[in-house]
Amino acid sequence: MRLILMGAPGSGKGTYAEVLEKHFRVPHISTGVIIRNAIAKETPMGLIAKTYIDKGNLVPDEIANEIVKERLKEKDCENGFMLDGYPRTLAQGEHLTRALEDLGVELDAAINLVIDESLVVERIINRRYCPKCGRGYNVKTIKPIVDGMCDDCKVPLLTRDDDNEETVKSRLVVYNNLTKPLVGYYEKLGKLVSVDSNRSIDVVVEDIIHALEE
Ligand code: AMP
Repeated sequence: MRLILMGAPGSGKGTYAEVLEKHFRVPHISTGVIIRNAIAKETPMGLIAKTYIDKGNLVPDEIANEIVKERLKEKDCENGFMLDGYPRTLAQGEHLTRALEDLGVELDAAINLVIDESLVVERIINRRYCPKCGRGYNVKTIKPIVDGMCDDCKVPLLTRDDDNEETVKSRLVVYNNLTKPLVGYYEKLGKLVSVDSNRSIDVVVEDIIHALEE
């Protein structure tokens, strides 16, 4: 299965990807995670990306395109992949279409997670993640067994630097201006699957799996 997960910040891309990667047995590729790791390691790409991410802006297309182009060539992507947070601009979408053509493979679907914007800020400021395994939590809806600790790694959970109210608002503007046009792009390609993401995780996941297996 070759999938894209699209949606506004806080629409649940990472949360659903964690479940769907197990169901479809494909690697979950999050450009956000790859970029945050590069920032933590202070690589040359990470140092450039940090200046964009901290303000809630997108990193330049060339950086995101290069990350994904190289990652898709890896062996574990031979039988499929799930892209989370890429593409985020029309130029990235067109680049991905060409990259897949070069690899001789076809996208199965672009899943568009539709969320009410009034829920986004609340969801995001309550988000936490495990710095070791990347698993996502929410202090209200996806609580760890022990308060503030990852269930698997037993290390303290953290809040992303860009998960604050001010940055979320710019990320929403960026989403509406630059990323939303991809919905029309994938609709024209006949790949769009839109899912209402305002509901509980189990219901949304079931809907996605059902739509993809049809
Ligand atoms: P995410 O973890 O998907 O919410 O991404 C966090 C941040 O990483 C975004 O707000 C962007 O600054 C950057 N980022 C992630 N993916 C991309 C992408 N495909 N294009 C440009 N910037 C990206």
